[in-house]
Amino acid sequence: MKLSPHFHLSEFTASQTATRLMIDNTPGPDEIAAMKLLCEKVLEPVRENYGKPVMISSGYRSKELNRALMGSRSSQHIRGQAVDFEIAGLSNLTICRWMERRLNYDQLILEFYTPGEPASGWVHVSYREPYRNMELTARRVVRNGRRTTEYVNGIVG
Ligand SMILES: [Zn+2]
Repeated sequence: MKLSPHFHLSEFTASQTATRLMIDNTPGPDEIAAMKLLCEKVLEPVRENYGKPVMISSGYRSKELNRALMGSRSSQHIRGQAVDFEIAGLSNLTICRWMERRLNYDQLILEFYTPGEPASGWVHVSYREPYRNMELTARRVVRNGRRTTEYVNGIVG
């Protein structure tokens, strides 16, 4: 099933974890509608700008899959509103900077990018209406001897 000219539903539902644990990752009509909107408003413009395939590492997550991945309970991936992606040969920081200037989205998060390592991390982006045009950078930090994730405002390289 095609969601938009360059994106198939299977790219959003494929998950090694779901396959391994035999978790059903089938979205309903509301989630499919949300994914179509995300493709139209965000992913197709990114694909168009760079002329290269957008490689989706995580799209839709059923509640059960999200639990297995230890995702946040309010994750927009559960609603079909969010996607994680990369583009081969492009820095995730560069992609976020372009998106920040040119697109509307709900949340754009530069996840676990290490300066000087262009292939590090990935881009998380969500879309819904009304959208917030909010940008964050996620980093792994050690606090009190425990590894945790810290979010800072803006796209920080
Ligand atoms: Zn994500």
